[in-house]
Amino acid sequence: MKPKKILVTGGSGFLGSHLCRLLLNEGHKVYCIDNLYTGRKENIIDLNGNERFTFILHDVEKPIDIEADEIYHLACPASPPHYQLDPIKTLITNFIGSLNLLELAKRYNSKILFASTSEVYGDPLIHPQKESYNGNVNSIGPRACYDEGKRCAESLFFEYYRQHQVNIRVIRIFNTYGPGMALNDGRVVSNFIIQALNGADLTVYGDGNQTRSFCFVDDLISGMVSMMNYKGDFTGPMNIGNPAEVTVLELAEKVIDLIGNSSKVTFLPIPQDDPIRRKPDISLAKDKLGWLPAVTLDEGLKKTIEHFKKTSGNGTI
Ligand code: NAD
Ligand code: UDP
Repeated sequence: MKPKKILVTGGSGFLGSHLCRLLLNEGHKVYCIDNLYTGRKENIIDLNGNERFTFILHDVEKPIDIEADEIYHLACPASPPHYQLDPIKTLITNFIGSLNLLELAKRYNSKILFASTSEVYGDPLIHPQKESYNGNVNSIGPRACYDEGKRCAESLFFEYYRQHQVNIRVIRIFNTYGPGMALNDGRVVSNFIIQALNGADLTVYGDGNQTRSFCFVDDLISGMVSMMNYKGDFTGPMNIGNPAEVTVLELAEKVIDLIGNSSKVTFLPIPQDDPIRRKPDISLAKDKLGWLPAVTLDEGLKKTIEHFKKTSGNGTI
């Protein structure tokens, strides 16, 4: 494959750092743009010596001028406690940030992929969720800054495609986990693993009967890159996720079992607008890209647990 010049926004975050690593391994030149809001330099420390890698400390709220063949636009905090810390900033990142990147793509005729989310389906009334489902989002609730921010960014992407013929790709990512998640990320998989490694009780919100479908990071990144590389005129939106659905309580029990200690579960109030069920229909990704996730939840959790043990040095985080 001919080496390309690729820009990754949010490149020092959880998913972005895995993506930069894979693109470098494929021989490309990678520009990683990040304001380090939730991203960390440690995530990309191994990439800094690579002469094809450039880190640029930059907020996507401001325009940037880099000519690239491809742009992966991931910049946005993804964990509820992080995106709710400054909700107006989350909205600005999604709208103005996407506008700036789309203008850049238009100027240099770059192909641009947007990391949208299963949150565009809100608290879904159909199950599993297909791309044709328009969703059930509370536009004024505490998750709206993220959900509506992403929905609005999707609209922008499709208007740049229709009005300016920008070559867009939109994927809707379902809950993804794996090595590289920050210790303070706040999402359920990292919370449970850290709590269990510390021998603390696992904090289950609500009765734990709400479901999610967890995708291992390597599977997600391979789906994302396949979508970017898809040759035909296909914009998406396309679900990328693992349809193996579990309840949050089942996840807690699995983590305790795999770590093998005496942690118990403690129940805390469920956050407002927390979706009750979530599972992707991935038939589109299967048909168009021939993509399917390969890593089971057990395998992925084991790898993630090993990573957190190493990060903490002695198992105590
Ligand atoms: P993350 O918080 O680890 O990474 C986000 C990155 O974006 C961080 O490095 C952060 O510093 C950077 N960033 C945030 N605002 C920025 C701004 N204004 N300017 C420049 N950089 C900025 O989250 P993640 O899990 O890696 O998610 C990456 C993308 O994928 C996000 O857009 C998220 O919405 C999307 N996504 C992730 C998941 C998931 O389960 N991980 C699910 C759905 C969608
Ligand atoms: N959750 C939980 N305990 C935690 C963190 C999250 O029970 O310590 C629940 C949360 O209420 C939600 C599910 O786990 O039902 C997934 O939460 P996460 O924040 O990981 O992702 P999202 O809600 O955005 O899917």
